[in-house]
Formats: sequence, structure tokens, C-alpha cells
Amino acid sequence: MTSRWRDVAHATGLLADDGTPRATIFAEMSALAVRTGAINLGQGFPDVDGPASVADAARAAIADGANQYPPGPGIPALRHAIADHQRRHYGLVVDPDREVLVTTGATEALAAAVLALVGPADEVLTLEPFYDSYAAVIAMAGATHTTAPLAATPDGFRLDEAALTAAFTDRTRLVLLNTPHNPTGTVLTPDELAVVARLARQHDAIVVTDEVYEHLTFGVPHVPIATLADMAERTLTISSAGKTLSFTGWKVGWVHGPAHLVDAVRTVKQFLTYVSGAPFQPAVAFALGDPGVQAWVDELAASLARRRDLLCDGLTAAGFDVVRPDGTYFVLADASRLGHGDGAALCRDLPSLAGVVGVPVSAFTRAGSSADSALASWVRFTFVKRDEVLHEAVARLQRLA
Ligand SMILES: *Cc1c(COP(=O)(O)O)cnc(C)c1O
Repeated sequence: MTSRWRDVAHATGLLADDGTPRATIFAEMSALAVRTGAINLGQGFPDVDGPASVADAARAAIADGANQYPPGPGIPALRHAIADHQRRHYGLVVDPDREVLVTTGATEALAAAVLALVGPADEVLTLEPFYDSYAAVIAMAGATHTTAPLAATPDGFRLDEAALTAAFTDRTRLVLLNTPHNPTGTVLTPDELAVVARLARQHDAIVVTDEVYEHLTFGVPHVPIATLADMAERTLTISSAGKTLSFTGWKVGWVHGPAHLVDAVRTVKQFLTYVSGAPFQPAVAFALGDPGVQAWVDELAASLARRRDLLCDGLTAAGFDVVRPDGTYFVLADASRLGHGDGAALCRDLPSLAGVVGVPVSAFTRAGSSADSALASWVRFTFVKRDEVLHEAVARLQRLA
């Protein structure tokens, strides 16, 4: 008998030597922060909520009775708002009735897409490091996880064409892309996306792209791979309200793409959660179409760029080598110049050394991979915290220098 949870725990590095599952490094580090009073720059959630007008819209929806099961694909107003958003920002033409599915966060969209589209004979190719849920859902599907590294260069963490080419095989059924990328903060360039697109077409692979940080870029444009020639027909694009609106607890996400692929995802989604967040759907529909909210999101991105610089400068002064990210909430910092070769060990010591908590990048790599060894001494820190919190964290980090 096979127990799929063991595959999941194994794939995510969460199976202890005695065969029991253990807590994720995120949970361990957050508990450590609470226990020690350290500043938690580990888990990436904002410490300021999103726009009041959007919260008011959710409250109004509850008062107006949006409290029972909404339609399975999502309420029409939200599906239309998602399609309009894609046309306005990227020129993508999306049919709100046949090509959009509302999900319980991007997390469910990712899980339903992978479970719908791959099985034990298939390979799913991701970048590495990768968002931790990818390895888990690939294991749930019984598929094989392959990776192509993002490597630190003077131009940021970049995708190596030769490594990507080598990672594709005849069994690559799905490419699970992520741009802007967590944890590196890389925003893939049109040239990098063109290489992914060419290889996906050549191997007849479907692309599932996680674009939850689409609006949180710093002076470089986010390009959805679905906008590249001949790619819309083989791409499922996933995003979510959580990061864009600073309401990470609302868990309203969506996926759009060709009707036959969205049908496949919906077939699985309806038996995972059936429907998603009734009163939050009209609130997110309002948010996606409202110019005032868009201005708020633009200001969030501008303030994140400033906070990125504050944290990057502080980490550099403390003796880390940082790669300045072009998007997301996160910066990766190499501790090797400080004499720390093991990022996980450093993270366990960081509260006592400097009163700060981060997450080792090994939480986003596979044991034994080339990316895993290249990034062994790296730590991820978030800068989606208030200025005064970051100033205090930076001051404390100078104890390391
Ligand atoms: C936060 C995050 C998600 C999860 O999004 P939800 O809408 O909260 O489910 C997915 N992918 C990446 C890369 C993330 O950082």
C-alpha cells in the first residue's frame, strides 16, 4: 500500500529520519521568532492590510447576502473583471465564460492544474529554487519533478538556456513557471520567456505559469508567457488577489487559458473545494476594475522598491552578498562571506546572533541538486514589512559584521 502523504513529505523534505512528518521550515522559523522575540523576515506576508475600499466591499457583500455557495466557476462579475484585467494590462483576449476559473487562492489553481494534467508517467519541469507547494502537488499527482536552475549572475538570478534545454525530455508534459519569481525576485525577461516557449512548443508541453506577483515589480515590466506567439493555446495563467491587494488571507485566485484546459482544471477543482469565498469574490471584482485601487497597488510596488533598497543596503553593510530583486517581496542573501556555509544552521542561530529570522533557501531546493549546493549558504528575507520594522532589523543585523 502506498501512502501519498509520505511522497509529499519526502518531496518537500518533511519526512524525519524516524518516518514521521515534521513541520515546515516556515513554521519552525515563525515559532522561533515568537519564542525569541526576533523580527520575523521569514514568512512573506504584509504587516499592513490592503485598501479599505476593498475590505468595505467584502463587508457590504456579507451584509447583502453573498453568503451561500457561489457558482462553481466563480461569479460572473469576477470572471469578467479578470478577463478585463488581462486585456487592459497585457492585451490578452480571454472569454470570461469559458476560459476563466476562480479558485481558492493561486495555491488551489496550481494544485488543480497539476492534478488535472499529469500522472505517474509524466515529468513536471520547474525552475529551481521553487515555491514549496510545487514539489508537493507534483508528488500528489505521482509525477516526476525535474528542474532547471536560476543561477546568481551580475545581472541577477538568470535562467541558463543550456541547462533548461537539458532539463526538457520527451516526458516533459508540463512546465510550471513562476515570474516574478519567489524566492529569487527574478522577473523573467522576454528573451528568457522566448526560450521557455520555444522548448515547450518543441516538446509539446503545457505551460502553467504562476504570476501572483505580476504587479509587484520594480521598474521592469512583467511579461506573461501567454502573450508570446503561439503560447496562449498551451498556457494556463494563474494569479491571485492575495499579494496584489495585501489580503493574503482571502484566498481568491484564478486561472485562465484555453477552454479545454480550464475545463480539465475545473473538473478537479470542483472536488477539492467545490466553490471559493462567496463574499470575497465581489470585493475582488471591484478591486480589479477600480482605478483608485490600481493607484494603491502602484504605490505598493513603489514603496516595496524603496523597502527592497533599505533591506538590501542593510544586508550588504552587515556582510551578506545580495542579489537585488526586480520584483516580489523577497531578497536572497549569501552568508558565505560572513563565514556561514550552511544557511539552515545560520537561520537557527540568527535570532541569538542578530535578533532576526530568515528562511534558508534550501527550503526551496531539492537535496542534492546543483541549485541546492550553489545556494547552500543563502537565506531568504522578506521586505514586505513596515519601514520601522525594517530599520530595526537592519540595525540588529549589523551585529553580524
Ligand atoms: C504566495 C504565493 C502563492 C500562493 O498564493 P495564494 O493566492 O495565497 O494561494 C503562490 N505562488 C507563489 C509564488 C507565492 O509566493
